[in-house]
Amino acid sequence: MNNKTLLENLRCIPDFPQKGVNFRDVTTLFKNPKCLQIMEDELYEMYKDKGVTKIVGIESRGFVMASALAIKLNAGVVLCRKPGKLPGETVQESYSKEYGTDTIEIHKDAITEDDIVLLHDDLLATGGTMKAAYDLVKKFNPKKVYVNFLIELIHEDLNGRSNFEEGTDITSLLQV
Ligand code: 5GP
Repeated sequence: MNNKTLLENLRCIPDFPQKGVNFRDVTTLFKNPKCLQIMEDELYEMYKDKGVTKIVGIESRGFVMASALAIKLNAGVVLCRKPGKLPGETVQESYSKEYGTDTIEIHKDAITEDDIVLLHDDLLATGGTMKAAYDLVKKFNPKKVYVNFLIELIHEDLNGRSNFEEGTDITSLLQV
């Protein structure tokens, strides 16, 4: 169920980054200590018994709670970034966007076959970004991959979850 405090503190910015888009601004959750605590507690309850060893945060709003939760779960943090930001050797995945393609990457030595991975991002819209991150993490052949969002947009035109194969373990804190 949606947490009332989180919902009340989530800011919507109309027409950002372009006209017609109602942008859910999670920075208003990040700057609020009570919201941070609620998100950390809820995520911890969801994943405390899953044996998660690595949390992959998606650039850049995914980094915040990935780090907070990793400390609580005694897991490591892995950065999933746009090309050219990570200094070491990387593994990449490209995906289609509305206009053109995008690429994301992870350090080649960041995940092993012994890892249980939690992929985390702030928001699920079309699911394109997370599906690419999911396919990228799968290349490392980890024991298990979980997927989490702070916010899941529920809209008939989006259906972000449909990108993922049946049985993929996907959670979100807020469905809006
Ligand atoms: P998708 O690939 O699912 O269409 O879009 C999700 C990605 O775009 C996420 O990485 C997310 O950070 C960003 N994004 C798209 N729309 C929004 C939004 O309304 N609010 C926020 N915070 N991020 C968004």
